[in-house]
Amino acid sequence: MPPQQRTTVCLGGGPAGLTAAYQLSAQSLPVTVLEAEPRYLGGIARTVVHDGFGLDIGGHRFFTKSARVNAIWHELLGADFIHRRRKSRIYYNGRFFAYPLRATNALLNLGLFTSTACVLSYVKALLLPHKNPTNFEQFMCNRFGRRLYAIFFKSYTEKVWGLPCSAISADWAAQRIKDFSLRAAIRDALLGQASKAVHTTLIDAFHYPRHGCGMMWERMGEKITAQGGQIHMGQRVTSLRRNGNAWEVIARDRDGKEHLYHAARVISSLPIRELVAMITPRLSAQGRAAAQALRYRDFMVVALIATERHTFDDNWIYIHDPQVKVGRIQNMKAWSPALIPDAGRNCYGLEYFCTAGDELWNKPDGELLRLASAELAQLGLATPADVDDGFVVRQPQAYPVYDHDYAQHVATIRDELATTCPTLHLVGRNGMHRYNNQDHSMLTAMLTVENIIAGQPLHDVWQLNSEAEYHEKDTERDTPLQQVG
Ligand SMILES: Cc1cc2nc3c(=O)[nH]c(=O)nc-3n(C[C@H](O)[C@H](O)[C@H](O)COP(=O)(O)OP(=O)(O)OC[C@H]3O[C@@H](n4cnc5c(N)ncnc54)[C@H](O)[C@@H]3O)c2cc1C
Repeated sequence: MPPQQRTTVCLGGGPAGLTAAYQLSAQSLPVTVLEAEPRYLGGIARTVVHDGFGLDIGGHRFFTKSARVNAIWHELLGADFIHRRRKSRIYYNGRFFAYPLRATNALLNLGLFTSTACVLSYVKALLLPHKNPTNFEQFMCNRFGRRLYAIFFKSYTEKVWGLPCSAISADWAAQRIKDFSLRAAIRDALLGQASKAVHTTLIDAFHYPRHGCGMMWERMGEKITAQGGQIHMGQRVTSLRRNGNAWEVIARDRDGKEHLYHAARVISSLPIRELVAMITPRLSAQGRAAAQALRYRDFMVVALIATERHTFDDNWIYIHDPQVKVGRIQNMKAWSPALIPDAGRNCYGLEYFCTAGDELWNKPDGELLRLASAELAQLGLATPADVDDGFVVRQPQAYPVYDHDYAQHVATIRDELATTCPTLHLVGRNGMHRYNNQDHSMLTAMLTVENIIAGQPLHDVWQLNSEAEYHEKDTERDTPLQQVG
């Protein structure tokens, strides 16, 4: 069989596309990765470097329940996969609260009056829960009571999604927020930390590549090339033509030149909305409408390089204060000192959730740097004079939005593609419109490759849920209460 008839083209050089290429090339199967970004591999999990200072697009903890994913990470990085202690707090009303929430810390910090109101509202939620919670607000009020929900989840979640919590599907909370019970937390606070051990590992520590999360994906890229796979950077896929079960993929490089690739199959981690619009013959009107209806939330990181004042040693802080626009602040030195080339300075990533094209997104970089410096000072974490450099990274489509209709739209597209395009495989986060972390994104690619190699659908990749317990034994545990990230 000529090579082009066996070749797999992977769309996207993030964790999912790269993992698929890594697995295929390890079996000596021909594979080509097409990545729009000219310089960095890793997609949302890349590390951007500016004058030697490294910044993640949102700090990326490496944690997983999958032994196979864990083995790949350790195999790729060895001693450069460092063990870090985790610290993160919530900044609300001028105070820092432990995060994940701890009952005693939260209740003491809130003061007697508010704490009593929180406990009463929690008891009310236990006695009179929403019977069938369909949205985020109802789900969270059932778990925490309305008062605690309003203090610790409402404003931050609405900053992230740009939607009222009542418009966000309960699916998202159910996927991200596990096993938290204020009752258990209060019991632990009163009787000692009886149940804490269960979750200790990943609350207190995690793994991380020494030179930033992108290091993992750059290393995987090197391995793919060493195994005979090809990676083309700076090539944006613009069209996919189906010819029977084979594909012609067209990508445009930075000079506007088009490149044509023939493939026996395509593995796509591109946002479904964009992918569907590229396919010919076109999907049905219903399929195209479903894809166009999928929504995303965009994201911007304003990196400030500043004199190190040791005002906080958290890896990141959630900012629940409605007085400032920033949603979260990353402290890159706490992730890994190797990201900071100068011991007397630090790099802070101030994260702003927005929609591409909105007022914030369109602000010139200079204005964003001034806004971020002023907000860092307003929070008491640095003075504007401490900041001597900075840069802005805009990340479109950082979050697939779970509105009330997304699941139906995804099912419509998935079903149509399964019958009309059996050699097009969807993987990853935006690739499946799933709120997947790196490990889940990798697992979708790994199972897809197993299906391809077996020549039959051994696994239903869509059944791999956020728990990632697909034939896997627990090796590590997620935090019981996980904010967006
Ligand atoms: C703020 C934030 C914090 C996060 N924190 C964590 C964390 O702590 N731990 C964790 O495990 N996960 C975390 N995640 C999730 C993690 O980033 C994703 O799971 C992972 O990046 C998804 O990998 P992917 O390959 O599916 O998609 P992506 O990373 O989105 O990669 C897709 C790739 O496709 C490329 N592409 C897009 N369009 C085209 C085109 N037309 N042609 C060619 N290439 C194209 C993009 O440039 C990109 O490189 C976080 C995400 C965010 C937004």
